[in-house]
Amino acid sequence: MSIKEYQKKRDFRTSPEPKGSKKKQDNNFVIQQHDATNLHYDFRLNIDGVLVSWAVPKGPSTDPSVKRLAIRTEDHPLEYADFEGVIPEGYGAGTVMIWDRGTYRNLKDKSMSACLDDGHLTVWLKGKKLQGGYALTHTDKDRWLLVKMDDDKADARRKPTSTQNKSVKTGRTMKQIEDDS
Ligand code: MN
Repeated sequence: MSIKEYQKKRDFRTSPEPKGSKKKQDNNFVIQQHDATNLHYDFRLNIDGVLVSWAVPKGPSTDPSVKRLAIRTEDHPLEYADFEGVIPEGYGAGTVMIWDRGTYRNLKDKSMSACLDDGHLTVWLKGKKLQGGYALTHTDKDRWLLVKMDDDKADARRKPTSTQNKSVKTGRTMKQIEDDS
């Protein structure tokens, strides 16, 4: 997948989203809460200079017994990791918040792109809200499962998607982001 598909879906004359040209390998990730047609969390990992992306309807869990559906979506440009605001119309119209971000480490001894081809990747996240191992496993078509690995960062009682609902970039709530635009 290339970011051409991302660019094709959007009209950059009306959308505040970045068009994308930057390329750099820096193992960062971002999770953007996106109040579009349906509220979801976009989980994006920088793999070889693009943000490989999944839409997670219920968001990530910190409980290893919980499997969260993650739908693979088009790759996004790296600049998208800084995007927070309101998409007024067109594809993905709605409010976007930087819910969490940080760096990740590949837990497998092969490249992230090889893991992606295999349909199974495991990463150690170092975010503000999420830490520890997470596994993404392909099931069929564009469907994957996102599961917290059972490590010392696992916590069945924490519900970060409901208790930590402010932007890690600006401290704003979804409502404040919407009102500010
Ligand atoms: Mn989205």
